[in-house]
Amino acid sequence: MSVFSAPAWDSHELVAFGSDAGTGLRAIIAVHDSTLGPGVGGCRMFPYASDADALHDVLRLSRGMTYKSALAGLPMGGGKSVIIGDPRRDKTPALISAMGDFVHAQGGRYVAAEDSGTGVEDLRRMAGRTPHVSGIDDNEHGGDPSPSTAYGVFLAIRTAVQHRLGVASTAGLRVAVQGLGHVGYHLARHLRTDGAVVYGADVNPVNITRASDELGVIPVDPAEILRLEVDVLAPCAMGAVLNAQSIDTLRAGIVAGAANNQLATGEDSARLQGHGILYCPDFLINAGGIIDVHYQRAGLPADAKRAHIERIVDTLAEVLHRADVTGRPSNEVAEALAVEYLRDAARAPLATALPSQVASAAR
Ligand code: NAD
Repeated sequence: MSVFSAPAWDSHELVAFGSDAGTGLRAIIAVHDSTLGPGVGGCRMFPYASDADALHDVLRLSRGMTYKSALAGLPMGGGKSVIIGDPRRDKTPALISAMGDFVHAQGGRYVAAEDSGTGVEDLRRMAGRTPHVSGIDDNEHGGDPSPSTAYGVFLAIRTAVQHRLGVASTAGLRVAVQGLGHVGYHLARHLRTDGAVVYGADVNPVNITRASDELGVIPVDPAEILRLEVDVLAPCAMGAVLNAQSIDTLRAGIVAGAANNQLATGEDSARLQGHGILYCPDFLINAGGIIDVHYQRAGLPADAKRAHIERIVDTLAEVLHRADVTGRPSNEVAEALAVEYLRDAARAPLATALPSQVASAAR
């Protein structure tokens, strides 16, 4: 397994491999860029098929966190960690404590948050071994960042339909939500309140029943959800759902969802554009969660957090505008904008590292 020539390698500042024979821990921590602050990002536990798959995931995810935090105007760099193992089978208190020690060994360059396969309880256990953990505070924010993520994605969908269809709300529009878990459920709630017709799919029948009974979401076979003829497709389950095969079969005019790394490869952004599909970059519109984590960590008030999340759409509008003007795929435009922010911050850290208004910085 190569590291420095791995496909997802992007001059990451730190990649650390940790193991603990006593607990069976095998984990990787990656910090992509710390220009704006320590690398903050989720700790994912997943039964990766190979070490190379785990490395690929942590490299891609930490890079995405750099762009996400930069575009969201947060004083955070991009970091992520992965634990190789099945959370239902392999997760033990001792293994999670060992992960806490591994996080601590990075001296604060990486700050862990929850991700798929880990939860607040695990983060609290890690916090027994290291202060470099976030998203565990019992304060007005309520701990779980998913509702904030869903709120940002909902506002992004409204911006996208305004941009593409010239309508101010999703009332009467058809939206397909793939994955009705933490984020997907709250997204469906916002959309239904706004008047959208929401189709939903989930591999977990409990989640589909809840969304159907409580929100009036129309259940769809998980195998069909990506191919539905809808105005908006919102992937909120897993990554790499937009690939050479699936893009050819999409019948949505807009794709805007919460899932990280929706594009399987760098070319898929252009592929979507080639099909006339408006793509809202995931790392831009799903930043509500990391914004929430920042406000929790800093002990800042919830109303300021809400206002910060609402500024995601100003950045999205800027990205869509630049994409229209230049003819470049939206994902490339968003990445370039994040790199611009990082370059500005590196040049004049105090003046630009913490743009209080992403929108004004973007324009
Ligand atoms: P979650 O695990 O609570 O929900 C995901 C849901 O997708 C689950 O209900 C699962 O059963 C379902 N699912 C899995 N495979 C599916 C398939 N093939 N078809 C349909 N449904 C399927 O996760 P979440 O916290 O809601 O996050 C959803 C996505 O958004 C993830 O990709 C996550 O990385 C990303 N994200 C989440 C947050 C957050 O605040 N939770 C923030 C940013 C990004």
